[in-house]
Amino acid sequence: MQTELSSTTDILVDTTGDDLHQHMRSMSDDVMIIKPEVKTHRRTASLRQRLENAEQLVHKFVTEAEQVAEQAVIKLCTEAWHVCHFNALPKWLQDNDFLHRGHRPPLPSFWVCFKSIFRLHTETGNIWTHGLGAVLFLCLFVYTFITFKDHYTYVDRLMLAIYFCGAITCLSFSTVFHTCSCHSREVSKFCSKLDYCGISIQIIGSMIPALYYGFYDNHAMYLTYITFGVILCIISIVISLWDKFGEPKFRPLRTAVFLAFGLSNVIPGIHWFIVLDSHLFSSFLLFILQGLLYIIGALLYVVRIPERFFPGKCDYWFQSHQLFHILVVLAAIVHLNGINGMVEMRLNVNQLSI
Ligand SMILES: [Zn+2]
Repeated sequence: MQTELSSTTDILVDTTGDDLHQHMRSMSDDVMIIKPEVKTHRRTASLRQRLENAEQLVHKFVTEAEQVAEQAVIKLCTEAWHVCHFNALPKWLQDNDFLHRGHRPPLPSFWVCFKSIFRLHTETGNIWTHGLGAVLFLCLFVYTFITFKDHYTYVDRLMLAIYFCGAITCLSFSTVFHTCSCHSREVSKFCSKLDYCGISIQIIGSMIPALYYGFYDNHAMYLTYITFGVILCIISIVISLWDKFGEPKFRPLRTAVFLAFGLSNVIPGIHWFIVLDSHLFSSFLLFILQGLLYIIGALLYVVRIPERFFPGKCDYWFQSHQLFHILVVLAAIVHLNGINGMVEMRLNVNQLSI
């Protein structure tokens, strides 16, 4: 029976009273020896843990304080920005050295960039000329679709919609570019690509309806010219998206490519003139005028007239880029009138032939 008991019970049962006391005392001595060691060990571990926690806490506070301070400095710098001289700009923001003062410094906040629309600087005119142009074409789009005449076919509506979408896209992308170009090098580069894509979209958006009505009775020629136009459009978009061509030194090359794309309308234009229906002559003249406006605008932009002759005098107003923008909007209005004239004339001819 005794042998089946647990070891503790064995001690109690197998030992006499004296043995028990002695054993208990011995155990007590052992505990007295071990206890301080355990306590010391626990205290050290606890202290180390607390130190680590405190260290983590301090590190966390310091990191948060640094972030808050950094944000505050960025906010202060961007909210309270002042226009600066061309020479004070970082390389990626230096584009036109004939504009001396009034440049925006880098503003690494989209909110601050968009707020800068309402301040005077070298980009104010560029932002508003195309911003208002985009709003104008959006209103004209809505107005045109509200006042559509019943005899307009589905294709007529589609052609006008293509034209409006091209113009609105181009003007909107341009506005975004001029607004955010000072955000950072990366954003500037991306928005520049958008700007050039917008020009390609507008050119093809203008070609499609003009060629459709110009070669209304010659569907094969219409498809040939449109295919040619779409291929050129794709090439110009690829060039726009290619990083290498985003640098300011490639500005003349980019302009030349877009000019070539724009002038690709010349061949179908000459063909159209040869087979021209006399009823469409006024529209033809409008397209010629539109082409001239584009060419004048592009030339002013490339050679930087008038600021080239008046360095530092066109920093805010009347600089070549603003004139180019105004001429682009005027050309778009002229083209719209040309298309409207063709749609009306085509519908009248169709009604007369019925
Ligand atoms: Zn522009």
